[in-house]
Amino acid sequence: MAPKKKIAVMTSGGDSPGMNGVVRAVVRMAIHLGCDAYAVYEGYEGLVCGGDYIKKMGWDDVRGWLSEGGTLIGTARCMAFYERAGRLTAAKNMVLSGIDALIICGGDGSLTGADKFRSEWPSLLEELVTKGEVSEDQTALYKHLNIVGIVGSIDNDLSGTDATIGCYSALSRICEMVDYIEATASSHSRAFVIEVMGRHCGWLALLAGVATGADFVFIPERPQDHDWRQAMSVVVRRHRKIGKRKTIVIVAEGARDRDGNKISSEEIRDLLSGKSEGGLGLDTRITTLGHVQRGGTAVAYDRMLATLQGVEAVNAVLEATPETETCFIAINENKIVRKPLMKAVLESKELAAAVEAKDFEKAMALRDTEFADQYRSFLTTTNVFAGDCKLPEKSRMKIGFINVGAPAGGMNAAVRAAVAYCLSRGHQPVAIHNGFAGFARHHDDKPVGSVRPFDWLEVDGWASKGGSEIGTNRELPSESGMELIANLIELYEFDAFFIVGGFEAFHSVSQLRKARDEFPSLCIPICLLPATISNNVPGTEYSLGSDTCLNELVSYCDKIKQSASATRRRVFVIETQGGRSGYIATLSGLNVGATAIYIPEEGISLEMLNADVMNLKEVFKNDRGQSRAGRLILVNEKASKVYDAKLIASIIRDEAHDRFESRESIPGHVQQGGVPSPMDRCRAVRLAIKCIQHLEDFGRNAHNRVKKDPHSTTVIGIRGSEVVFTPMKELEEEGTDWPNRRPKVAHWLDMREVADILGGRPPYPKPE
Ligand code: ATP
Repeated sequence: MAPKKKIAVMTSGGDSPGMNGVVRAVVRMAIHLGCDAYAVYEGYEGLVCGGDYIKKMGWDDVRGWLSEGGTLIGTARCMAFYERAGRLTAAKNMVLSGIDALIICGGDGSLTGADKFRSEWPSLLEELVTKGEVSEDQTALYKHLNIVGIVGSIDNDLSGTDATIGCYSALSRICEMVDYIEATASSHSRAFVIEVMGRHCGWLALLAGVATGADFVFIPERPQDHDWRQAMSVVVRRHRKIGKRKTIVIVAEGARDRDGNKISSEEIRDLLSGKSEGGLGLDTRITTLGHVQRGGTAVAYDRMLATLQGVEAVNAVLEATPETETCFIAINENKIVRKPLMKAVLESKELAAAVEAKDFEKAMALRDTEFADQYRSFLTTTNVFAGDCKLPEKSRMKIGFINVGAPAGGMNAAVRAAVAYCLSRGHQPVAIHNGFAGFARHHDDKPVGSVRPFDWLEVDGWASKGGSEIGTNRELPSESGMELIANLIELYEFDAFFIVGGFEAFHSVSQLRKARDEFPSLCIPICLLPATISNNVPGTEYSLGSDTCLNELVSYCDKIKQSASATRRRVFVIETQGGRSGYIATLSGLNVGATAIYIPEEGISLEMLNADVMNLKEVFKNDRGQSRAGRLILVNEKASKVYDAKLIASIIRDEAHDRFESRESIPGHVQQGGVPSPMDRCRAVRLAIKCIQHLEDFGRNAHNRVKKDPHSTTVIGIRGSEVVFTPMKELEEEGTDWPNRRPKVAHWLDMREVADILGGRPPYPKPE
């Protein structure tokens, strides 16, 4: 049998929310797979100092770490590691501790150091033997060093991955602050210049601009083509002219003009306030957000990323051979992948060099597609009336907007972005209020005001609003009367429908498609953008609103868990929504470290409950008070017809015989969230614009093409590493579990396994 691996994990460079999740996942996965787990404290400094800085970690040492901000094993900038002498000492300490695999979570500097260390490893060992610091025998087991990188950084500045661990938490902090500032800006009709982090990378500034509906952003990799002063003045003047009371400008700290000169917040303020030439005369303030951006607990997405990437990193070090190129763990759209580390580091450096060299075309080209998409989206939403993108008259369409189902975070941001795009192209976007039920409300075929053109000034304020401003309703077209809906489409001369909603919306699109033969006026292109907290719409792995919901659940669970810290011996059984899809129960379980998760896809059996109760008894028997908070069990509302949260809590309480307690807790509609998460808002903008572009491709009077082209009724989605449109017909027939109102295949089932392993749940008998 091969000797077991000794896997060490380290955090390095600037701290970022989610780093503790990485350490927890690596430690627990390593132990689960029979390896020894170590933590190197204080980054490379700990490796160079050795001794107590390298600690063996046990399963319980990382309990509760998912909800802690920063990094609990410390991080430092280590000058010694830049030099070979420092790396030599680090190698010696690794050999003496017996560590043969290293997982490093940090930024591009940390990962460059890691790659250098690995490539030098054989020569470092040779030198150590020559100098007599270690013996030949001692190095025998450590001929090759396996290193895997995980990108922890708030800047999202590494090429090859869509997100770095911590970037969405930082974005959330920024957006929260901008949302607060907006209220006061609006009240006083003020302008605010908000400076955010990002010396070489404008991701935070750009995405914050998209999520909050800011007026203007300055990012390092894409300065204005000409004079930025003029460009900003034109936009701000235009927005003020249509009646906007607030002006928000977001500037990345590394923003510069075409000539490479830094653009400071003060210069922007002076222009907005009218102190400099061509000034706008607005009462203007500067807010520099600084280190609040880094701090606090990780958002749901960063916890998921940290956990899944930590697990993947352990798998990668175990599978690596001496020939394997050093890799890092990336995410592309929704897929966790391994990628060559140095290629990404070199590309990131190339990007920074391109910015320095003022080659901005190249800098943008080196950013991922999402970044470029979001940049275009931002321009669309801020240049609605610029008039330079208008289509010829004959190509302009009348597009009906409907929200169907329960409200979900991001619905309004989607509608806003789609309206902005329509207006910039000369289309006529029309709001149909309160779903199909609202559409069908009429007197003698006369509409009663539920169909109205959008007022841009009003819609422009919807970027960060929760709920559904145009109103939503669960009623299906068949319930409202298909003939009536068909007649109304004809009456209003709609050329296309843009529908945002959950499973009812999906069902509605299916019904409209099927009724086309009977009612020719339904032969218009229809595009569905999935939006539901349940994330159960076939055709996508992500629905708008699901991220907001997960964030609500994560913070709810953190609080509940904390509340048990005084008693220590309490199990909370938390009931989640999600219909017959266990997605949000599973993902929140993964994100809070649940002891057990019950989902409808599996059901609940007596054997399962028994196994979990036995596990809890064992856990509390061995707990000598070191665990700082209670345990959580997550149950989807429809996991079982018999065992609900209350009953499960009662069973546990009864079985515990006073050795521990149990309570149920039902967050209910809180799960829909208040203010939508920045991820939901940003994805809403990007996907909504793609939907309208898809409809636009059909143009007006496209009845014949619509009949033939399966993409004329379609669902946009994120699947694996791509954004795709899938024809409704294909999804109806092959992808949908209609009785259970969910996709046939749950893409997230692997995550459930990870949640069980890391939550310490023993194998349990699966229900038949
Ligand atoms: P952030 O994105 O937060 O700046 P980072 O990982 O890029 O994170 P750095 O300060 O660049 O932060 O690097 C962290 C540590 O990694 C350094 O203090 C040093 O110990 C090591 N390191 C960085 N670059 C190299 C290099 N080229 N060679 C050896 N070690 C390096």
